[in-house]
Amino acid sequence: MATATQSTDRLSSTNPATGEVIGTVPIMTAAEVDAAVARARVAAETWSTRSFAARTEELVAFRKAIAAEATEIADLLHRENGKPELEALTEVMMALGHVQHATAIAEKAMAPRKVGAGILANFRASISYHPLGVIGVIGPWNYPLFTPMGSIAYALAAGNAVVWKPSELTPLVALEIERIAKRTFALPDLLQVVTGAGATGAALAKAAVDKIAFTGSAATGKRVMQAASERLTPVLLELGGKDPMIVDADADIAKAAEAAVYGALTNAGQACISVERVYVNEAVHDQFVEEVVRQVRDLKVGGDDGHLGAMTSPAQVTIVRDHLEDAVAKGAKVLTGGPDAIAGNYIQPTVLTNVDHRMKVMTEETFGPVLPIAKVRSVDEAVKLANDSNYGLGSSVFAGKAARAIADRLRAGMTSVNSVMAFAGIPTLPFGGIGDSGFGRIHGEEGIREFTRIKSTAEQAFSLPLNMMSFRQPKDMPTKLRGMIKQLYGEGLVSRAGDVIRKLRK
Ligand code: NAD
Repeated sequence: MATATQSTDRLSSTNPATGEVIGTVPIMTAAEVDAAVARARVAAETWSTRSFAARTEELVAFRKAIAAEATEIADLLHRENGKPELEALTEVMMALGHVQHATAIAEKAMAPRKVGAGILANFRASISYHPLGVIGVIGPWNYPLFTPMGSIAYALAAGNAVVWKPSELTPLVALEIERIAKRTFALPDLLQVVTGAGATGAALAKAAVDKIAFTGSAATGKRVMQAASERLTPVLLELGGKDPMIVDADADIAKAAEAAVYGALTNAGQACISVERVYVNEAVHDQFVEEVVRQVRDLKVGGDDGHLGAMTSPAQVTIVRDHLEDAVAKGAKVLTGGPDAIAGNYIQPTVLTNVDHRMKVMTEETFGPVLPIAKVRSVDEAVKLANDSNYGLGSSVFAGKAARAIADRLRAGMTSVNSVMAFAGIPTLPFGGIGDSGFGRIHGEEGIREFTRIKSTAEQAFSLPLNMMSFRQPKDMPTKLRGMIKQLYGEGLVSRAGDVIRKLRK
Protein backbone atom coordinates (compact mmCIF):
# COMPACT_ATOMS: atom_id res chain seq x y z
CA MET A 1 0.00 0.00 0.00
CA ALA A 2 1.20 3.51 -0.72
CA THR A 3 0.49 4.57 2.84
CA ALA A 4 1.91 1.90 5.08
CA THR A 5 0.94 2.34 8.70
CA GLN A 6 3.86 4.10 10.35
CA SER A 7 2.87 3.55 13.93
CA THR A 8 0.12 1.84 15.84
CA ASP A 9 -2.09 4.87 15.93
CA ARG A 10 -1.34 7.03 12.85
CA LEU A 11 -1.07 6.40 9.14
CA SER A 12 0.77 8.39 6.52
CA SER A 13 -0.56 9.81 3.30
CA THR A 14 2.13 9.77 0.63
CA ASN A 15 2.47 11.31 -2.80
CA PRO A 16 2.47 8.34 -5.20
CA ALA A 17 4.49 10.31 -7.76
CA THR A 18 7.38 11.04 -5.38
CA GLY A 19 6.98 8.83 -2.33
CA GLU A 20 7.03 11.97 -0.15
CA VAL A 21 4.90 11.83 3.02
CA ILE A 22 2.33 14.64 2.77
CA GLY A 23 0.80 14.21 6.18
CA THR A 24 -0.26 11.75 8.86
CA VAL A 25 -3.73 11.12 10.28
CA PRO A 26 -5.01 9.21 13.32
CA ILE A 27 -6.20 5.62 12.95
CA MET A 28 -9.49 5.97 14.74
CA THR A 29 -10.80 3.23 16.98
CA ALA A 30 -14.34 1.82 17.10
CA ALA A 31 -14.96 3.90 20.25
CA GLU A 32 -13.95 7.08 18.41
CA VAL A 33 -16.19 6.16 15.47
CA ASP A 34 -19.12 5.52 17.83
CA ALA A 35 -18.54 8.88 19.51
CA ALA A 36 -18.56 10.66 16.13
CA VAL A 37 -21.82 8.90 15.22
CA ALA A 38 -23.35 9.95 18.57
CA ARG A 39 -22.38 13.58 17.94
CA ALA A 40 -23.76 13.33 14.41
CA ARG A 41 -27.04 12.02 15.83
CA VAL A 42 -27.44 15.21 17.89
CA ALA A 43 -26.65 17.37 14.85
CA ALA A 44 -29.09 15.38 12.71
CA GLU A 45 -31.93 16.03 15.15
CA THR A 46 -31.60 19.79 14.63
CA TRP A 47 -30.68 19.70 10.93
CA SER A 48 -33.66 17.49 10.04
CA THR A 49 -36.11 19.98 11.54
CA ARG A 50 -34.71 22.95 9.58
CA SER A 51 -36.69 24.14 6.58
CA PHE A 52 -35.40 23.40 3.08
CA ALA A 53 -34.70 27.11 2.69
CA ALA A 54 -32.55 27.19 5.84
CA ARG A 55 -30.64 24.06 4.79
CA THR A 56 -30.18 25.49 1.31
CA GLU A 57 -28.61 28.64 2.72
CA GLU A 58 -25.97 26.64 4.59
CA LEU A 59 -25.34 24.21 1.73
CA VAL A 60 -24.79 27.13 -0.64
CA ALA A 61 -22.27 28.61 1.82
CA PHE A 62 -20.54 25.19 2.02
CA ARG A 63 -20.40 24.97 -1.79
CA LYS A 64 -19.02 28.48 -2.15
CA ALA A 65 -16.37 27.86 0.51
CA ILE A 66 -15.17 24.75 -1.35
CA ALA A 67 -15.21 26.66 -4.65
CA ALA A 68 -13.13 29.45 -3.06
CA GLU A 69 -10.46 26.87 -2.16
CA ALA A 70 -10.72 24.88 -5.41
CA THR A 71 -7.07 25.45 -6.35
CA GLU A 72 -5.73 24.28 -2.99
CA ILE A 73 -8.08 21.27 -2.87
CA ALA A 74 -7.16 20.27 -6.44
CA ASP A 75 -3.49 20.57 -5.55
CA LEU A 76 -3.99 18.27 -2.57
CA LEU A 77 -5.89 15.80 -4.79
CA HIS A 78 -3.03 15.95 -7.29
CA ARG A 79 -0.40 15.28 -4.62
CA GLU A 80 -2.29 12.69 -2.61
CA ASN A 81 -3.88 10.69 -5.43
CA GLY A 82 -1.35 11.23 -8.23
CA LYS A 83 -3.82 12.56 -10.81
CA PRO A 84 -2.72 15.46 -13.04
CA GLU A 85 -3.78 18.98 -12.11
CA LEU A 86 -6.41 19.21 -14.87
CA GLU A 87 -8.10 16.00 -13.73
CA ALA A 88 -7.95 17.16 -10.10
CA LEU A 89 -9.65 20.45 -10.98
CA THR A 90 -12.24 18.57 -13.03
CA GLU A 91 -12.96 16.39 -9.99
CA VAL A 92 -13.48 19.45 -7.76
CA MET A 93 -15.83 20.93 -10.36
CA MET A 94 -17.86 17.74 -10.69
CA ALA A 95 -18.14 17.38 -6.91
CA LEU A 96 -19.38 20.97 -6.63
CA GLY A 97 -21.91 20.27 -9.38
CA HIS A 98 -23.45 17.62 -7.16
CA VAL A 99 -23.51 19.84 -4.08
CA GLN A 100 -25.36 22.43 -6.15
CA HIS A 101 -27.74 19.94 -7.76
CA ALA A 102 -28.57 18.06 -4.56
CA THR A 103 -29.31 21.36 -2.82
CA ALA A 104 -31.54 22.51 -5.68
CA ILE A 105 -33.65 19.37 -6.01
CA ALA A 106 -34.03 18.16 -2.41
CA GLU A 107 -37.34 19.86 -1.71
CA LYS A 108 -38.96 18.64 -4.94
CA ALA A 109 -37.57 15.11 -4.56
CA MET A 110 -38.93 14.92 -1.01
CA ALA A 111 -42.27 16.59 -1.71
CA PRO A 112 -45.18 14.53 -0.35
CA ARG A 113 -47.32 12.87 -3.02
CA LYS A 114 -51.01 12.02 -3.07
CA VAL A 115 -51.79 8.60 -4.52
CA GLY A 116 -55.00 6.76 -5.33
CA ALA A 117 -56.61 4.80 -2.48
CA GLY A 118 -58.00 1.90 -4.53
CA ILE A 119 -61.10 0.28 -3.07
CA LEU A 120 -60.67 2.27 0.15
CA ALA A 121 -62.10 5.21 -1.74
CA ASN A 122 -63.02 7.10 1.45
CA PHE A 123 -59.29 7.50 2.27
CA ARG A 124 -56.73 10.12 1.32
CA ALA A 125 -53.49 8.25 0.67
CA SER A 126 -50.12 9.98 0.60
CA ILE A 127 -46.40 9.23 0.53
CA SER A 128 -43.89 11.43 2.31
CA TYR A 129 -40.11 11.37 2.57
CA HIS A 130 -38.15 12.02 5.76
CA PRO A 131 -34.43 12.16 6.58
CA LEU A 132 -32.98 8.88 7.85
CA GLY A 133 -30.75 10.42 10.53
CA VAL A 134 -27.01 9.63 10.35
CA ILE A 135 -25.40 8.35 7.14
CA GLY A 136 -22.04 6.58 7.22
CA VAL A 137 -20.12 7.21 3.99
CA ILE A 138 -17.12 5.00 3.19
CA GLY A 139 -15.12 6.21 0.20
CA PRO A 140 -12.41 4.97 -2.20
CA TRP A 141 -9.13 6.54 -3.29
CA ASN A 142 -9.62 6.91 -7.03
CA TYR A 143 -11.99 9.91 -6.86
CA PRO A 144 -11.44 10.88 -3.21
CA LEU A 145 -13.75 13.91 -3.45
CA PHE A 146 -16.23 13.39 -6.29
CA THR A 147 -17.26 9.86 -5.38
CA PRO A 148 -18.06 10.35 -1.68
CA MET A 149 -19.63 13.75 -2.44
CA GLY A 150 -22.16 11.89 -4.62
CA SER A 151 -23.49 10.49 -1.33
CA ILE A 152 -22.58 13.26 1.11
CA ALA A 153 -24.23 16.13 -0.79
CA TYR A 154 -27.47 14.22 -1.30
CA ALA A 155 -27.53 12.91 2.28
CA LEU A 156 -27.03 16.41 3.73
CA ALA A 157 -29.55 18.00 1.36
CA ALA A 158 -32.09 15.37 2.42
CA GLY A 159 -31.67 16.48 6.04
CA ASN A 160 -29.17 13.93 7.39
CA ALA A 161 -25.85 14.24 9.22
CA VAL A 162 -22.83 12.41 7.77
CA VAL A 163 -19.83 10.54 9.18
CA TRP A 164 -17.30 9.98 6.39
CA LYS A 165 -14.50 7.41 6.39
CA PRO A 166 -12.20 8.26 3.47
CA SER A 167 -9.73 5.80 1.98
CA GLU A 168 -6.51 5.40 3.94
CA LEU A 169 -4.70 6.37 0.72
CA THR A 170 -6.41 9.77 0.45
CA PRO A 171 -7.54 11.01 3.89
CA LEU A 172 -6.18 14.57 3.68
CA VAL A 173 -8.67 15.77 1.06
CA ALA A 174 -11.50 14.60 3.31
CA LEU A 175 -10.05 16.43 6.32
CA GLU A 176 -9.87 19.59 4.24
CA ILE A 177 -13.57 19.30 3.40
CA GLU A 178 -14.37 18.61 7.08
CA ARG A 179 -12.50 21.79 8.03
CA ILE A 180 -14.62 23.79 5.55
CA ALA A 181 -17.81 22.11 6.81
CA LYS A 182 -17.04 23.00 10.43
CA ARG A 183 -16.57 26.59 9.39
CA THR A 184 -19.66 26.92 7.23
CA PHE A 185 -22.36 24.80 8.90
CA ALA A 186 -23.92 26.13 12.09
CA LEU A 187 -23.77 22.56 13.42
CA PRO A 188 -20.06 21.63 13.57
CA ASP A 189 -20.83 17.91 13.83
CA LEU A 190 -23.02 17.81 10.72
CA LEU A 191 -20.21 16.44 8.54
CA GLN A 192 -17.42 14.62 10.38
CA VAL A 193 -14.50 12.62 9.05
CA VAL A 194 -13.14 9.52 10.76
CA THR A 195 -9.74 8.42 9.49
CA GLY A 196 -8.14 5.00 9.43
CA ALA A 197 -7.95 1.89 7.27
CA GLY A 198 -10.31 -1.08 6.86
CA ALA A 199 -10.90 -1.57 10.60
CA THR A 200 -12.15 2.00 10.99
CA GLY A 201 -14.48 1.45 8.02
CA ALA A 202 -15.71 -1.80 9.55
CA ALA A 203 -16.39 0.04 12.83
CA LEU A 204 -18.51 2.59 10.94
CA ALA A 205 -20.43 -0.20 9.16
CA LYS A 206 -21.21 -1.71 12.59
CA ALA A 207 -22.01 1.62 14.28
CA ALA A 208 -25.50 2.95 15.06
CA VAL A 209 -25.92 4.71 11.71
CA ASP A 210 -29.14 4.69 9.70
CA LYS A 211 -27.55 3.83 6.37
CA ILE A 212 -24.12 3.03 4.97
CA ALA A 213 -23.19 4.43 1.56
CA PHE A 214 -20.14 2.46 0.47
CA THR A 215 -18.00 2.98 -2.62
CA GLY A 216 -15.17 0.57 -3.25
CA SER A 217 -14.43 -2.95 -4.43
CA ALA A 218 -17.02 -5.73 -4.57
CA ALA A 219 -14.99 -7.81 -2.09
CA THR A 220 -15.04 -5.05 0.54
CA GLY A 221 -18.67 -4.26 -0.27
CA LYS A 222 -19.63 -7.78 0.78
CA ARG A 223 -17.79 -7.34 4.09
CA VAL A 224 -19.52 -3.99 4.66
CA MET A 225 -22.92 -5.54 4.01
CA GLN A 226 -22.15 -8.37 6.41
CA ALA A 227 -21.07 -5.95 9.16
CA ALA A 228 -24.12 -3.73 8.58
CA SER A 229 -26.42 -6.74 8.82
CA GLU A 230 -25.74 -6.95 12.58
CA ARG A 231 -28.05 -3.97 13.08
CA LEU A 232 -30.00 -4.49 9.84
CA THR A 233 -28.53 -1.20 8.67
CA PRO A 234 -29.46 -0.67 5.00
CA VAL A 235 -26.56 -0.31 2.59
CA LEU A 236 -25.99 1.41 -0.73
CA LEU A 237 -23.14 -0.26 -2.60
CA GLU A 238 -21.28 1.48 -5.44
CA LEU A 239 -18.78 -1.17 -6.48
CA GLY A 240 -16.46 -1.92 -9.34
CA GLY A 241 -17.14 -2.39 -13.02
CA LYS A 242 -15.91 -3.93 -16.26
CA ASP A 243 -17.54 -1.43 -18.57
CA PRO A 244 -17.86 -2.45 -22.20
CA MET A 245 -17.92 -0.18 -25.26
CA ILE A 246 -19.52 -1.34 -28.50
CA VAL A 247 -18.45 0.19 -31.81
CA ASP A 248 -20.69 -0.80 -34.72
CA ALA A 249 -19.83 -0.66 -38.44
CA ASP A 250 -21.70 2.61 -39.04
CA ALA A 251 -20.22 4.48 -36.05
CA ASP A 252 -18.24 7.70 -36.37
CA ILE A 253 -14.87 5.99 -35.94
CA ALA A 254 -12.81 9.09 -35.11
CA LYS A 255 -15.26 10.06 -32.35
CA ALA A 256 -15.51 6.49 -31.04
CA ALA A 257 -11.71 6.21 -30.88
CA GLU A 258 -11.38 9.53 -29.06
CA ALA A 259 -14.02 8.44 -26.54
CA ALA A 260 -12.42 5.02 -26.04
CA VAL A 261 -9.01 6.57 -25.41
CA TYR A 262 -10.40 9.05 -22.89
CA GLY A 263 -12.78 6.55 -21.28
CA ALA A 264 -10.07 3.95 -20.77
CA LEU A 265 -7.22 6.24 -19.78
CA THR A 266 -8.66 9.17 -17.81
CA ASN A 267 -7.51 9.05 -14.18
CA ALA A 268 -4.95 6.48 -15.46
CA GLY A 269 -7.84 4.05 -15.91
CA GLN A 270 -8.66 4.14 -12.20
CA ALA A 271 -12.35 4.92 -12.59
CA CYS A 272 -15.20 2.58 -11.71
CA ILE A 273 -16.78 3.58 -15.06
CA SER A 274 -13.57 3.29 -17.10
CA VAL A 275 -13.93 1.72 -20.52
CA GLU A 276 -12.38 -1.66 -19.66
CA ARG A 277 -13.04 -3.50 -22.94
CA VAL A 278 -14.10 -2.56 -26.47
CA TYR A 279 -15.96 -4.70 -29.02
CA VAL A 280 -15.57 -3.42 -32.57
CA ASN A 281 -17.30 -4.64 -35.71
CA GLU A 282 -14.79 -6.38 -37.98
CA ALA A 283 -15.66 -4.01 -40.85
CA VAL A 284 -14.17 -1.04 -38.96
CA HIS A 285 -11.85 -2.81 -36.49
CA ASP A 286 -8.54 -2.03 -38.18
CA GLN A 287 -9.49 1.60 -38.84
CA PHE A 288 -10.59 2.02 -35.21
CA VAL A 289 -7.41 0.42 -33.83
CA GLU A 290 -5.23 2.59 -36.05
CA GLU A 291 -7.01 5.75 -34.86
CA VAL A 292 -6.78 4.69 -31.20
CA VAL A 293 -3.06 3.96 -31.42
CA ARG A 294 -2.42 7.28 -33.16
CA GLN A 295 -4.20 9.18 -30.37
CA VAL A 296 -2.58 7.18 -27.55
CA ARG A 297 0.91 7.89 -28.94
CA ASP A 298 0.21 11.62 -28.43
CA LEU A 299 -0.42 11.23 -24.69
CA LYS A 300 2.05 12.36 -22.07
CA VAL A 301 2.58 10.32 -18.91
CA GLY A 302 3.76 11.99 -15.70
CA GLY A 303 4.54 15.59 -14.81
CA ASP A 304 2.05 18.13 -13.48
CA ASP A 305 0.61 18.68 -16.95
CA GLY A 306 0.65 15.06 -18.17
CA HIS A 307 -2.47 13.35 -19.46
CA LEU A 308 -1.86 10.38 -17.17
CA GLY A 309 -0.53 10.63 -13.64
CA ALA A 310 1.01 8.12 -11.28
CA MET A 311 -1.07 5.14 -10.19
CA THR A 312 -2.34 5.87 -6.68
CA SER A 313 -1.49 2.49 -5.19
CA PRO A 314 1.40 0.08 -5.91
CA ALA A 315 -1.03 -2.76 -5.15
CA GLN A 316 -3.06 -1.70 -8.20
CA VAL A 317 0.10 -1.63 -10.35
CA THR A 318 0.64 -5.29 -9.42
CA ILE A 319 -2.91 -6.18 -10.55
CA VAL A 320 -2.50 -4.34 -13.88
CA ARG A 321 0.85 -6.06 -14.52
CA ASP A 322 -0.73 -9.44 -13.77
CA HIS A 323 -3.60 -8.79 -16.22
CA LEU A 324 -1.19 -7.69 -18.95
CA GLU A 325 1.13 -10.67 -18.49
CA ASP A 326 -1.86 -13.03 -18.48
CA ALA A 327 -3.20 -11.47 -21.71
CA VAL A 328 0.17 -11.62 -23.48
CA ALA A 329 0.68 -15.25 -22.40
CA LYS A 330 -2.73 -16.09 -23.91
CA GLY A 331 -1.99 -14.43 -27.26
CA ALA A 332 -2.91 -10.74 -26.93
CA LYS A 333 -1.00 -8.36 -29.19
CA VAL A 334 0.55 -5.30 -27.49
CA LEU A 335 0.31 -2.19 -29.70
CA THR A 336 1.42 0.41 -27.15
CA GLY A 337 2.71 0.17 -23.56
CA GLY A 338 2.51 -3.37 -22.23
CA PRO A 339 3.86 -5.16 -19.15
CA ASP A 340 7.43 -4.13 -19.96
CA ALA A 341 6.47 -0.44 -19.99
CA ILE A 342 5.68 -0.26 -16.29
CA ALA A 343 8.13 1.78 -14.21
CA GLY A 344 7.41 2.25 -10.52
CA ASN A 345 3.94 3.79 -10.13
CA TYR A 346 3.78 4.80 -13.81
CA ILE A 347 2.11 2.62 -16.43
CA GLN A 348 2.32 3.58 -20.10
CA PRO A 349 -1.12 3.54 -21.76
CA THR A 350 -1.52 0.07 -23.19
CA VAL A 351 -3.57 -0.89 -26.24
CA LEU A 352 -4.18 -4.59 -26.78
CA THR A 353 -5.81 -6.48 -29.66
CA ASN A 354 -6.45 -10.21 -30.23
CA VAL A 355 -8.11 -10.36 -26.83
CA ASP A 356 -10.84 -12.75 -25.66
CA HIS A 357 -12.74 -13.77 -22.54
CA ARG A 358 -10.17 -16.34 -21.42
CA MET A 359 -8.07 -13.34 -20.37
CA LYS A 360 -8.36 -11.52 -17.04
CA VAL A 361 -8.06 -8.22 -18.89
CA MET A 362 -11.49 -8.94 -20.46
CA THR A 363 -13.27 -10.32 -17.40
CA GLU A 364 -11.80 -8.87 -14.17
CA GLU A 365 -11.61 -5.20 -13.19
CA THR A 366 -8.15 -4.05 -14.36
CA PHE A 367 -8.41 -0.47 -13.02
CA GLY A 368 -5.43 0.77 -14.98
CA PRO A 369 -4.56 2.54 -18.28
CA VAL A 370 -5.36 -0.42 -20.50
CA LEU A 371 -7.54 -0.53 -23.63
CA PRO A 372 -8.22 -4.06 -24.89
CA ILE A 373 -9.97 -4.16 -28.28
CA ALA A 374 -11.82 -7.26 -29.49
CA LYS A 375 -13.02 -7.85 -33.05
CA VAL A 376 -16.66 -9.01 -33.42
CA ARG A 377 -18.70 -10.13 -36.42
CA SER A 378 -22.03 -8.58 -35.46
CA VAL A 379 -23.94 -6.43 -32.98
CA ASP A 380 -25.45 -9.59 -31.51
CA GLU A 381 -22.00 -10.96 -30.76
CA ALA A 382 -20.93 -7.63 -29.28
CA VAL A 383 -24.00 -7.44 -27.01
CA LYS A 384 -23.55 -11.07 -25.93
CA LEU A 385 -19.91 -10.48 -24.98
CA ALA A 386 -20.65 -7.11 -23.36
CA ASN A 387 -23.25 -8.78 -21.15
CA ASP A 388 -20.92 -11.68 -20.33
CA SER A 389 -19.87 -10.20 -16.98
CA ASN A 390 -20.97 -10.32 -13.35
CA TYR A 391 -20.47 -6.56 -13.25
CA GLY A 392 -23.06 -4.16 -14.65
CA LEU A 393 -22.08 -0.55 -13.97
CA GLY A 394 -21.56 1.71 -17.04
CA SER A 395 -21.32 1.02 -20.76
CA SER A 396 -21.20 2.86 -24.06
CA VAL A 397 -22.36 2.38 -27.63
CA PHE A 398 -21.13 4.02 -30.81
CA ALA A 399 -23.38 3.33 -33.79
CA GLY A 400 -25.74 4.91 -36.31
CA LYS A 401 -29.52 4.75 -36.09
CA ALA A 402 -29.54 1.50 -34.09
CA ALA A 403 -27.42 2.95 -31.27
CA ARG A 404 -30.27 3.47 -28.81
CA ALA A 405 -31.71 0.00 -29.46
CA ILE A 406 -28.28 -1.55 -28.84
CA ALA A 407 -27.94 0.48 -25.62
CA ASP A 408 -31.24 -0.89 -24.35
CA ARG A 409 -29.94 -4.45 -24.71
CA LEU A 410 -26.99 -3.86 -22.37
CA ARG A 411 -27.25 -5.25 -18.86
CA ALA A 412 -25.87 -2.23 -17.04
CA GLY A 413 -26.95 0.51 -14.69
CA MET A 414 -25.93 3.24 -17.14
CA THR A 415 -25.15 3.65 -20.85
CA SER A 416 -23.74 6.55 -22.86
CA VAL A 417 -24.77 6.61 -26.52
CA ASN A 418 -22.24 8.06 -28.99
CA SER A 419 -20.35 9.36 -25.97
CA VAL A 420 -18.54 7.99 -22.97
CA MET A 421 -19.09 8.44 -19.21
CA ALA A 422 -21.61 11.23 -19.94
CA PHE A 423 -24.19 9.77 -17.53
CA ALA A 424 -21.83 10.61 -14.63
CA GLY A 425 -21.71 14.27 -15.60
CA ILE A 426 -25.49 14.71 -15.84
CA PRO A 427 -26.55 15.28 -12.23
CA THR A 428 -30.22 14.48 -12.88
CA LEU A 429 -29.34 10.90 -13.85
CA PRO A 430 -29.19 8.34 -11.05
CA PHE A 431 -25.80 6.63 -10.83
CA GLY A 432 -25.28 2.98 -9.86
CA GLY A 433 -25.04 -0.57 -11.04
CA ILE A 434 -26.40 -4.08 -10.88
CA GLY A 435 -24.85 -7.45 -10.07
CA ASP A 436 -21.30 -7.24 -8.70
CA SER A 437 -21.39 -3.48 -9.34
CA GLY A 438 -23.75 -3.10 -6.38
CA PHE A 439 -27.17 -1.59 -5.81
CA GLY A 440 -28.85 1.63 -4.78
CA ARG A 441 -28.48 4.93 -6.59
CA ILE A 442 -26.67 8.20 -5.95
CA HIS A 443 -27.27 11.45 -7.93
CA GLY A 444 -30.60 12.78 -9.18
CA GLU A 445 -33.90 12.65 -7.33
CA GLU A 446 -33.38 8.94 -6.65
CA GLY A 447 -30.11 9.93 -4.99
CA ILE A 448 -31.98 12.21 -2.58
CA ARG A 449 -34.65 9.60 -1.81
CA GLU A 450 -31.92 7.00 -1.19
CA PHE A 451 -31.20 8.91 2.03
CA THR A 452 -34.81 9.17 3.19
CA ARG A 453 -37.34 6.86 4.75
CA ILE A 454 -40.61 6.53 2.95
CA LYS A 455 -43.70 7.07 5.05
CA SER A 456 -47.16 6.01 3.85
CA THR A 457 -50.18 7.70 5.39
CA ALA A 458 -53.79 6.62 5.01
CA GLU A 459 -56.17 9.30 6.24
CA GLN A 460 -59.88 8.54 6.48
CA ALA A 461 -61.76 11.40 4.82
CA PHE A 462 -65.28 10.18 5.61
CA SER A 463 -66.95 6.99 6.93
CA LEU A 464 -68.66 4.38 4.81
CA PRO A 465 -71.35 2.01 6.02
CA LEU A 466 -68.98 -0.88 5.27
CA ASN A 467 -65.88 -0.66 7.48
CA MET A 468 -63.34 -3.37 6.60
CA MET A 469 -61.09 -2.48 9.54
CA SER A 470 -63.51 -3.76 12.16
CA PHE A 471 -64.58 -7.07 13.69
CA ARG A 472 -68.15 -5.80 13.80
CA GLN A 473 -69.36 -7.13 10.46
CA PRO A 474 -72.83 -8.35 9.39
CA LYS A 475 -73.43 -12.11 9.38
CA ASP A 476 -73.67 -12.22 5.57
CA MET A 477 -70.23 -10.56 5.16
CA PRO A 478 -68.57 -13.71 3.67
CA THR A 479 -71.28 -13.82 0.96
CA LYS A 480 -70.80 -10.11 0.27
CA LEU A 481 -67.01 -10.57 0.01
CA ARG A 482 -67.43 -13.49 -2.43
CA GLY A 483 -69.56 -11.20 -4.58
CA MET A 484 -67.05 -8.37 -4.33
CA ILE A 485 -64.11 -10.63 -5.32
CA LYS A 486 -66.04 -11.78 -8.41
CA GLN A 487 -67.11 -8.25 -9.29
CA LEU A 488 -63.75 -6.56 -8.76
CA TYR A 489 -61.21 -9.19 -9.83
CA GLY A 490 -63.01 -12.14 -11.47
CA GLU A 491 -65.61 -12.45 -14.23
CA GLY A 492 -67.98 -9.87 -12.74
CA LEU A 493 -69.24 -6.83 -14.61
CA VAL A 494 -66.97 -4.31 -12.85
CA SER A 495 -63.87 -6.39 -13.60
CA ARG A 496 -64.86 -6.93 -17.26
CA ALA A 497 -65.58 -3.23 -17.71
CA GLY A 498 -62.11 -2.49 -16.28
CA ASP A 499 -60.53 -4.85 -18.85
CA VAL A 500 -62.36 -3.08 -21.69
CA ILE A 501 -61.23 0.37 -20.45
CA ARG A 502 -57.61 -0.85 -20.17
CA LYS A 503 -57.74 -2.22 -23.74
CA LEU A 504 -59.22 1.03 -25.07
CA ARG A 505 -56.48 3.02 -23.34
CA LYS A 506 -53.70 0.99 -25.04
P1 NAD B 1 -11.62 -0.77 -1.28
O1 NAD B 1 -12.78 -1.69 -1.30
O2 NAD B 1 -10.28 -1.33 -1.08
O3 NAD B 1 -11.79 0.34 -0.13
C1 NAD B 1 -12.87 1.24 -0.10
C2 NAD B 1 -13.04 1.76 1.30
O4 NAD B 1 -13.43 0.71 2.17
C3 NAD B 1 -11.77 2.36 1.92
O5 NAD B 1 -12.12 3.53 2.62
C4 NAD B 1 -11.32 1.27 2.88
O6 NAD B 1 -10.56 1.74 3.97
C5 NAD B 1 -12.64 0.73 3.35
N1 NAD B 1 -12.61 -0.63 3.90
C6 NAD B 1 -11.68 -1.60 3.71
N2 NAD B 1 -12.04 -2.72 4.38
C7 NAD B 1 -13.21 -2.45 5.00
C8 NAD B 1 -14.09 -3.20 5.82
N3 NAD B 1 -13.84 -4.47 6.14
N4 NAD B 1 -15.22 -2.60 6.26
C9 NAD B 1 -15.51 -1.33 5.93
N5 NAD B 1 -14.71 -0.57 5.17
C10 NAD B 1 -13.57 -1.12 4.70
O7 NAD B 1 -11.75 0.06 -2.64
P2 NAD B 1 -10.68 1.04 -3.23
O8 NAD B 1 -9.54 0.20 -3.70
O9 NAD B 1 -10.44 2.17 -2.30
O10 NAD B 1 -11.46 1.64 -4.49
C11 NAD B 1 -11.42 1.06 -5.74
C12 NAD B 1 -12.69 0.31 -6.02
O11 NAD B 1 -13.80 1.18 -5.88
C13 NAD B 1 -12.77 -0.20 -7.45
O12 NAD B 1 -13.31 -1.49 -7.48
C14 NAD B 1 -13.70 0.79 -8.12
O13 NAD B 1 -14.33 0.30 -9.26
C15 NAD B 1 -14.66 1.08 -7.01
N6 NAD B 1 -15.35 2.35 -7.23
C16 NAD B 1 -16.69 2.34 -7.50
C17 NAD B 1 -17.36 3.52 -7.74
C18 NAD B 1 -18.85 3.53 -8.02
O14 NAD B 1 -19.46 4.57 -7.88
N7 NAD B 1 -19.47 2.42 -8.40
C19 NAD B 1 -16.67 4.74 -7.70
C20 NAD B 1 -15.32 4.72 -7.43
C21 NAD B 1 -14.66 3.52 -7.19
